[in-house]
Amino acid sequence: MTFEELKAMDETYVMHTYGRFPVDIDHGEGATLYSLSGRKYIDFTSGIGVNSLGYANPQWIAAITAQIAKLGHISNLFYTQPGALLARELCTRSGMSKVFFGNSGAESNEAMIKVARKYSFDKYGKGRSTILTLNRSFHGRTITTLTATGQDSYHNYFFPFNEAFRYADPTLESIQAQAGDDVCGVMVELIQGEGGLNPLDKAMVQGLADLCKEKDWLLLVDEVQTGIGRTGSLFAFQQFGIQPDVVSFAKGIAGGLPLGGILTNEKCATVLTPGTHGSTFGANPVSTAAGLAVLETIDQDFLTQVQEKGAYLREGIRALGCPQLGEIVGMGLMLGIDVKGGRTNKELAALLIDNGLLCLTAGSRLRLLPPLVITKDEIDQGLAIMKQTLAG
Ligand SMILES: *Cc1c(COP(=O)(O)O)cnc(C)c1O
Repeated sequence: MTFEELKAMDETYVMHTYGRFPVDIDHGEGATLYSLSGRKYIDFTSGIGVNSLGYANPQWIAAITAQIAKLGHISNLFYTQPGALLARELCTRSGMSKVFFGNSGAESNEAMIKVARKYSFDKYGKGRSTILTLNRSFHGRTITTLTATGQDSYHNYFFPFNEAFRYADPTLESIQAQAGDDVCGVMVELIQGEGGLNPLDKAMVQGLADLCKEKDWLLLVDEVQTGIGRTGSLFAFQQFGIQPDVVSFAKGIAGGLPLGGILTNEKCATVLTPGTHGSTFGANPVSTAAGLAVLETIDQDFLTQVQEKGAYLREGIRALGCPQLGEIVGMGLMLGIDVKGGRTNKELAALLIDNGLLCLTAGSRLRLLPPLVITKDEIDQGLAIMKQTLAG
């Protein structure tokens, strides 16, 4: 099939919910991708923060192949190994107590919201179900997680939205101003991914953790994008000096297969009881076996390399000395760059992709989320494409 044939078929049969770039991807290795016609691309996107081990990773392929040959699916009415092994690994390495597995980020955040509301209901009864979220946040595309998303542009068309969400700016004053007897939790991303790579202030986050303890609000941290090594620690919260009540994860956990979930601390470990929550595909053995391969790869050494490669990429971008590129924000291999000098971030991303470097945008920034296994050589190739694009 040629790109033109593929494009025509896609436009005929697939709903147009995405603005696609005029590029197809056929296969890849490491952080390098190839189109049907064999054109090469350096990947600074990992899907959208998903392909943590890049493409065609041998350990990942071996784990998936071995598991699918044994058992591809079984219901959650029975015990099976991969989910339990992955849950133990996640709990041990995060200091959390228990896991619930779902399939996506939005579904994980739904579970997090349910934990907060039920924790509060069990303890205080009705009337304490409001969750505070931050302006410019992104929490997913189900009706409830759209409501949780603190951006007006998402609150259209699909009325009625859920009640019981209020939005604050990322300051303690603003959060206090939204407080009330009806609040049961505060949900935050430590670096807002879709909203423009906006990192929260560390002292603010620690203050928020104290405030949550004082008011018995649950601190809900959405690590769907920041989690699983992306920022240079297994979870970003580990670099903020806090321990959340509930953390959600998804994107990078299974290296490209659908998997998500939440981790709770001891206090919330028994809130969800039999019959109160579930997911048909949750803890799918192939996805959780893939997740185990991802976590086995992302050891402490690997995380140190993520930090080093993030610093190397930042320094490389700075050294290009391009006046169109401004401040660089973010942590580890989750970076945002201010775009200046006439072009929008979307125009710049389109040009870079056209020249062979896949990248993303968020808010008004260029967003880079390379596979965590990217090599310095691949980073150098990406930087060379940036240099050539920005000189043109
Ligand atoms: C991507 C993302 C989501 C939604 O994840 P899906 O898997 O698309 O449902 C939620 N929260 C954050 C922070 C995200 O980056």
